[in-house]
Amino acid sequence: MRYISADQIFSGSGYLPNDTVLALSNDGTFHETLNKDQVDELLIEHHKGIVCPGFINTHCHLELSHLKNKIDRLTGIVDFGLAVIRHRNAISSEEQKERMNLADKIMWDEGIVAVGDISNTELSASVKSSSSLYYHTFVELIALNPERAKSVFEQGIQILQKFTASGLVASFAPHAPYSASVQLIQEILNDCRANSLPTSIHNQESEAENEFFRDKHGDYLRLYNTLGIALDHFNPTGKSSLQTLASILNPDVKTLLVHNTFTKQNDLEFLKNLQPKLYWCLCPNANLYIENALPDVPMLLRNACAITLGTDSLASNNNLSIISEINTILNQQAQVPLEVLLEAATSTGAKFLGIDDRFGSLIPDRPCGINLIEGNSGNYSVKKLA
Ligand SMILES: [Zn+2]
Repeated sequence: MRYISADQIFSGSGYLPNDTVLALSNDGTFHETLNKDQVDELLIEHHKGIVCPGFINTHCHLELSHLKNKIDRLTGIVDFGLAVIRHRNAISSEEQKERMNLADKIMWDEGIVAVGDISNTELSASVKSSSSLYYHTFVELIALNPERAKSVFEQGIQILQKFTASGLVASFAPHAPYSASVQLIQEILNDCRANSLPTSIHNQESEAENEFFRDKHGDYLRLYNTLGIALDHFNPTGKSSLQTLASILNPDVKTLLVHNTFTKQNDLEFLKNLQPKLYWCLCPNANLYIENALPDVPMLLRNACAITLGTDSLASNNNLSIISEINTILNQQAQVPLEVLLEAATSTGAKFLGIDDRFGSLIPDRPCGINLIEGNSGNYSVKKLA
């Protein structure tokens, strides 16, 4: 047994009393919480900092790991997306897999234990099946033309089966409201509901997305024009992107809204009745990289949104580190309590992925990973204790 105490111990949902000692088995698995008085003082390892369960990264794209430093900062989402399309197949798939393995290792070193990962191909399956991290793969589908919904979904099934055949958990995810038709999103939600699995969708990463839905204007017209995709079947709704999406979301399917950079209070009012199954993933480093904007985290908290954290990919981030995302929020929106972000990074992320019986909290005899957070607010670093 190892006995660990720290300045503070965060359980996944709150701080434990000051005299708490964690008993870990020799392989590092949390066993039980004890009071200091119950343990021989000489056996206790005391750490300066905060001890907490391993982190859950609910939004990553391992497939884009080879695009680190390849895409300019601050281009806005349309030019970022076009650059990803241009660069993503610039190196061989073997080299891409090498970069994915390195990214996987980075996440491990940064105290991440589980990942929700967006995949457009089956390329990451072998990386994930040999990883020490838990992966939930979201097979991402894209087709704005409703006539393509069926065929794109069929192709998606082929990809998804590659993951499940490797013993990995996978479900479908529409890329974004502006790139998936109502028909495709409904097809995905029906499948997720039938299999009791969560889904994920990029949401309001730019103001252009809202403009596109309100009156079919703005930078997305340039995107579709450049890609040669006709928009005859796309009708503006006079509402924001999220308010448009709200009418087709399935209240029985846990849905992760990713980014939420341009989500407004009136969107949240509009969604009030759907709240229980919605999770809100923040990827602040990517938002600063692409748009130089951040979601209004205090607004999301005032509205009791269930927040999770994500790193997005190395195409729009120079690290895959949940503690770095936490630092960014603390530095930019200092009124957000650390405790709230730790909960987002642990138990709420685990709940969204449906793995809260193994990860995100101190559950006896479950190897959730044990992190030590050191340093000062906005400048924290993480060390793996187990
Ligand atoms: Zn993303």
